[in-house]
Amino acid sequence: MVVVGGGPVGAAAALALAREGFRVALVERQAAAPAFDPADYDLRMYAISAQSQQFLQQLGAWAGIAAARACAYRGMRVWQRGPEHALCFDAAEAGRAELGWIVEHSLIVQALRERLDGVDLIAGATVATVRFEAGGAALHLADGRRLQARLVLAADGADSQLRQMAGIESAGWSYAHRAIVCHVSTARPHQHIAWQRFLRSGPLAFLPLADGRSSIVWSAEPPLAAELLALDDAAFCARLAEAAEHALGEVVGTTRRIAFPLRLAHARDYVRAGLALVGDAAHVIHPMAGQGVNLGLADAQCLVCTLAAARTAGRDCWSLRTLQRYARERKAANLEMQALTEALYRGFRLPLPGLRAALGLGMEALNRAAPLKSWLAGRASRS
Ligand SMILES: Cc1cc2nc3c(=O)[nH]c(=O)nc-3n(C[C@H](O)[C@H](O)[C@H](O)COP(=O)(O)OP(=O)(O)OC[C@H]3O[C@@H](n4cnc5c(N)ncnc54)[C@H](O)[C@@H]3O)c2cc1C
Repeated sequence: MVVVGGGPVGAAAALALAREGFRVALVERQAAAPAFDPADYDLRMYAISAQSQQFLQQLGAWAGIAAARACAYRGMRVWQRGPEHALCFDAAEAGRAELGWIVEHSLIVQALRERLDGVDLIAGATVATVRFEAGGAALHLADGRRLQARLVLAADGADSQLRQMAGIESAGWSYAHRAIVCHVSTARPHQHIAWQRFLRSGPLAFLPLADGRSSIVWSAEPPLAAELLALDDAAFCARLAEAAEHALGEVVGTTRRIAFPLRLAHARDYVRAGLALVGDAAHVIHPMAGQGVNLGLADAQCLVCTLAAARTAGRDCWSLRTLQRYARERKAANLEMQALTEALYRGFRLPLPGLRAALGLGMEALNRAAPLKSWLAGRASRS
């Protein structure tokens, strides 16, 4: 098997396949893994769900992540106007110690890559051509190497070259929004709670970090994003505290700020004979729900289980029929999460008179509807 792309999803898939006894090569464009720096936090953070954490644990990667610095979050506060009216999710209500963990991208990739003993890692390489043929695929790498595989996994991210080479279309749109990301210190402690406000201009999240700071994801249209990026630190902190209605008091310090473009995408097909798409290569969602990497890890887990189950049952694990089982299961789950995220994102931005107020009332009603709330909390902790 050849996995193309050694991000969190590709590295997890390669490791899981090797553990199932498949022979695996992992082709990664970057020569070196993103460096985890114990002295400084990566700006790219993930809210890891319970299901993702269990998968990383099975792969032997979680202990290193937890020992380095994962921050458990035990609650979520989601509001539109007035943090005192927030919709509250608490782990204790769901009978859990935490709802999830905030972890750096570089730490996850490092923890997985450190365990790739059984995998042939080909770093600093890209695929020049791929030919899908009866019984598998023939890959020609840009450095001249050739690989033969029964199955190729495209885990090469949102702009997947493999998906394009296979001629699989991806439908979607740009949000015409950018997400500003930084880490900030606040006057009041985050209390291990993830805070999210739905502003008319876009969602704003404060995710708790183990050192007491919060990681910010602030989604805004390009003119506002450009304005926020251009502010000096003191002015940015003041704007941020105001936008968050001082839920954590004043913002007293910030790191540098970076911005990512945001989009939604979904591949028409997840599989072809000899090819399966996983992670952002198959679907991209708004980071608002913090689910992108969780959906990708769930793809990897599902695909590996499907292949292993087919092999155990004596079926042809490389057949298109087997791959379609994976595609059916994951497409349904990924589309459901995309639809939920989209409904929230659009709902709070619609310029209909009274709609935001109605959504606010809906949140208060939801706060009192224990079964629905626990369903939503459960849905967010798996993928
Ligand atoms: C601002 C922002 C905040 C986010 N916050 C969250 C969050 O809180 N929680 C969450 O779950 N998700 C979040 N996401 C989404 C998350 O970043 C992605 O879902 C996740 O990175 C997908 O992982 P992946 O391994 O599929 O792809 P990637 O992380 O993009 O990895 C792809 C890998 O493939 C390699 N590659 C690319 N092209 C080639 C090629 N041609 N040949 C070989 N290798 C190649 C790349 O170098 C890379 O290593 C956020 C995204 C953004 C933009």
